[in-house]
Amino acid sequence: MNSWVKLSTDVLSSNFGKLGLPYKLTYIVTKECHSRCVNCKIWRIKPQNELTLDEVTQFARNSPFLSWIDFTGGEPTDRPDFVQVVKAFLDHCPNLIFVHFPCNGLKPDRIEQVAKEIIALKPKRFVVTVSIDGPSKVNDGIRGIKGDFTSAVETYRRLSQLKELDVFVGMTLYPNNVHTLDQMVSEIQAIIPEFSYKKVHVNVPHVSGHYYGNTEHTDERPSATIPDVIKSLMKKRGIPLKPFEWVERLYHNQVAKYIETGKTPIDCSSIMSSTYLAEEGTLYPCSIWDAPLGNIRQSGYSLVPLVQSARSKLMREKIKKKDCPNCWTPCDAYPSIAASIIKTTMGVG
Ligand code: SF4
Ligand code: SF4
Repeated sequence: MNSWVKLSTDVLSSNFGKLGLPYKLTYIVTKECHSRCVNCKIWRIKPQNELTLDEVTQFARNSPFLSWIDFTGGEPTDRPDFVQVVKAFLDHCPNLIFVHFPCNGLKPDRIEQVAKEIIALKPKRFVVTVSIDGPSKVNDGIRGIKGDFTSAVETYRRLSQLKELDVFVGMTLYPNNVHTLDQMVSEIQAIIPEFSYKKVHVNVPHVSGHYYGNTEHTDERPSATIPDVIKSLMKKRGIPLKPFEWVERLYHNQVAKYIETGKTPIDCSSIMSSTYLAEEGTLYPCSIWDAPLGNIRQSGYSLVPLVQSARSKLMREKIKKKDCPNCWTPCDAYPSIAASIIKTTMGVG
């Protein structure tokens, strides 16, 4: 079956709760990271017991149903064999369409080299996000590295010259940077005049014990001004022209509801459409809920028995009742939006 037909069929099945295996995976290739972000503790972790390339290859061989993988970290490009990891999935997952990785932009040479090597593997659609959390001074404070903004913009500039990939800036909106989006865009435009608001993806801050290790922020609510900032961003971007821009628009539309209620604004499709693989092989429903489904090292390097287990069925029931931490992070929200498309746009289902 053609990969796009397979993905469309999966999305359609997810709308009726009938999808058997997830099509999207978020995989933490390493927790190595040289940033010093104040809102994330990953950089404090000494990576250990991470899946080896052999193990990753076995897992990839057992995951031919995947259409979309976010290879994340830590800083994914800090894993020396990162390109081989991506290659293992491209070799064994014939339906893989979307290859995405976020990066901290700290090492423009290394990131550009990795991007070029992945391009040579000919992924169908390849996207990189460079994290920038505000104009120079604000960004460097949040990300804990003097000169981070300069390196990240240089990384963006180099990647934007590679025609075979799409590059975006990813900004998380914290209380101390939420008002600086316009200033960030103008500072980037001073270096890259063609940079536009269409190239900015924004995200709401989240807490995760097993991922960011930042549970000390559990009681903090996202800034109430985020919806206004997002509304203004949507206006500047104009009408979405591509399917992904529409999904992003739907994500933005629901941010206010999430911030107001603290509840995931639509039915979450985690475990059914998407799942999260930690660097040492533990599978979780998502990047937020610290509720392991098992470890692929004990399941023959396959996620199939883990997502089809009695425990996963129980967790799906809990997710349907919103008996989970509730979140609105793009990694998991986009498949959930896709799984609700019939219900939300046509009023059925
Ligand atoms: S947010 Fe990303 S770049 Fe920052 S410390 Fe965590 S993993 Fe590293
Ligand atoms: S809504 Fe719950 S299960 Fe779904 S991604 Fe968020 S925390 Fe995870």
